[in-house]
Amino acid sequence: TAPLLAVDRLKAYYKTQLFGVDREVRAVDDVSLKINRNEIYGLAGESSSGKSSLIKTIAGAIRPPFRVIEGSVRFNFKDGERDIYKLSPQELSAIRWSHLSYIMQGSMSVLNPVRRIKHAFADFALPHVRVKGGDFTRLVERHLKRVHLDPAVLQAYPHELSGGMRQRVTIALATVCSPEFIIADEPTTALDVIVQKGVLSMVREIQQELGSSVLFVTHDMAVHANLTDRLGIMYAGRLVEEGRTRDVFKKPLHPYTAHLISSLPRIGDEAPKKGLEGSPPSLADPPSGCRFHPRCPLAIDICHREAPQMVEILPGHRAACHVAQADPTRVEAVA
Ligand code: SF4
Ligand code: MG
Repeated sequence: TAPLLAVDRLKAYYKTQLFGVDREVRAVDDVSLKINRNEIYGLAGESSSGKSSLIKTIAGAIRPPFRVIEGSVRFNFKDGERDIYKLSPQELSAIRWSHLSYIMQGSMSVLNPVRRIKHAFADFALPHVRVKGGDFTRLVERHLKRVHLDPAVLQAYPHELSGGMRQRVTIALATVCSPEFIIADEPTTALDVIVQKGVLSMVREIQQELGSSVLFVTHDMAVHANLTDRLGIMYAGRLVEEGRTRDVFKKPLHPYTAHLISSLPRIGDEAPKKGLEGSPPSLADPPSGCRFHPRCPLAIDICHREAPQMVEILPGHRAACHVAQADPTRVEAVA
């Protein structure tokens, strides 16, 4: 069956100026990926690896000076295919919430501090469901119970709720219209570990109940290990590895992924793990060849000159690494 989302050779750049000179920041640089129905796809990588830029581009939520240079983003919704960059603004807002819902980073700010929670539901979700006023209230109340919130929160102002409750409200908002595709950008980062666990199991519950697909973005590899079905790793605007989450953790095929996994704290560890040397490159002036080469312990000559392509090395498991493509066992030594 056709995937729900197909991103093909997507490039999206920002224009900035430095000392009066125009520069291009290649935040999303030739990314292709597919997301199936009924799965949670995780996107990992350091901050400024292009994760947020990629999902903004997928959601069609980009504004100048950020723009799509080439490539396509196609959804295969139940009522027909949509090419995000061929939709009019009206068509795009028609699929928001009902087909495609986006929980933004710091999304608690969608809640207006001087308006009660019930108004947020009325403003965002009511225009997108085919129900009358009273039925809508019942729908929202049922949905709040799904995220383990008392419908009494509808009367509350955002500041009267805890951070965890507010995050659950935004999840309820994003899912009340039963969207086929849900994008969540670091939704649990600001929450403490216990609350985070609750929110994550809720994401899984709702996903299973609605049969939706979720694109879940976080730099936190432990969250990916517990939540996602498949995992993509971004580095410097590129997707560098992708596979079933358990395969990626068991046998990473990119040295950067191996580093991310090995730096996860484990029970019994005494000293903190040694970090990766150097910092992520500037996307305005990325290194030649493989963008990871200045930091890569396995780099060889060709890595400086030629950008590796994403290649399926093991079944359903792709990576962009010259060394792994020649001998995948070499990468294990890094971890
Ligand atoms: Fe390292 Fe070369 Fe692989 Fe890049 S292509 S990750 S530099 S070994
Ligand atoms: Mg981000």
